[in-house]
Amino acid sequence: MTGVPIVYGMRKFPYPYQAMLAISSDADSQTLRKFNLVHEFMNTTQMTPLGRGLGLDFSDSFFMYNGNNEPGYVDINHEPMSDELTYFRGVSNQPYAASVINDYIHDGWIDTMHTYGDFSEVNQNKTLFTRKLAKQAIQTLDANGDNITVWTDHGNKSNVDNFGAYGETPFYSYQQGANPWSQYYHTNWTIPYGVKFVWADMSSSQVGMKSVIYPLQLPDGRHVWGFWRYTNSGYSKKHGVLWNWTPYQISNQLSTSNLDNLERFHEYSVVAQHLDGTTYPGALPQSAVHALDMLATQYHDGRILVTRTSRLLQYNVTQQYVSYYVTYAGGKAYIHIRDIADPVLGKHVPNLNEIRGLTFYTTNPAKTVIEIGDKPVPSNLIQDNKSDGIRPSIAVKWYPTNTTNYARTVPGVV
Ligand SMILES: [Zn+2]
Repeated sequence: MTGVPIVYGMRKFPYPYQAMLAISSDADSQTLRKFNLVHEFMNTTQMTPLGRGLGLDFSDSFFMYNGNNEPGYVDINHEPMSDELTYFRGVSNQPYAASVINDYIHDGWIDTMHTYGDFSEVNQNKTLFTRKLAKQAIQTLDANGDNITVWTDHGNKSNVDNFGAYGETPFYSYQQGANPWSQYYHTNWTIPYGVKFVWADMSSSQVGMKSVIYPLQLPDGRHVWGFWRYTNSGYSKKHGVLWNWTPYQISNQLSTSNLDNLERFHEYSVVAQHLDGTTYPGALPQSAVHALDMLATQYHDGRILVTRTSRLLQYNVTQQYVSYYVTYAGGKAYIHIRDIADPVLGKHVPNLNEIRGLTFYTTNPAKTVIEIGDKPVPSNLIQDNKSDGIRPSIAVKWYPTNTTNYARTVPGVV
């Protein structure tokens, strides 16, 4: 721990973790009742109806509109589809759960748009989505300071605002959101608004990956990051995609062997789910509670860093494309972060949040300095780590833990 330091390069994930995982849950059949149950259990450390809170950084998705005319219920007590949790009532400009969704975005409990809304119809040739609705949504989110960077595509062919997989196969031709010739075109607003990461409605049975992001060029020429989610256990000739993204199968997704492999191979995983997707009274069945408990143990034991989707994706970009150089002077080593050579969104000098978690092996953390350019990162954001078995390291701190219970109810919102 003494002497002139030597910097040995980056550790893939923040110390002491071996892997990084986010749960990406789609807003289908969401109600405030289920949302609150799930988040009190996932995010806080209080006693909750599902057991002791897990203290995880889990962030959810949401809809702006509800244009769904399918039969069925969204919750217990035969709550109709029309009561699904959305920002606006139906496809109107009247607020429904707007205030609480807005709060949860600011609190960090929501970080993903599950498209502009639930537009699934029984007749898939019909839709209530319009370009005007997209414009109203973006103007409202902007006016309320709701910064969302993640978009996940949704639903059946009525969901014409989808856009991530247009052109992949003929099946995806309904995805008109990025087609500038379409009446449903909206990415001219959606991408400049701030969406950087898009899940393109394509299945994957790979639990972990070295990197989950890939460059995605849209039909209108714009560039965003696509990303992969673990959505299914495999494929069969008879049943096609074997989706395992309901709470009843989360124990299969988060099996001990899947988690062990993530750690062994130092991988990222974005696990797709529908945590509010059932009408189960407690939202999550016992097997799901148990599986999430096991995941939380992996996190609290310092093995898998569980974080919200937007943070995992940003870290993935930074870890893969950060560029830095090291100088030595006066017995100290200086790690100069030059830029993030982001091939999709552009090369830029990062802000402090964009370098959170970056970890560098050094023989002497006490004599190693991390700088952006020639400007030291504030010392309250720096953390020295003892050896992980390879070497000691120095890091920009990951986000602080936040287990605040933000759950609230709203009159008139189910
Ligand atoms: Zn969905």
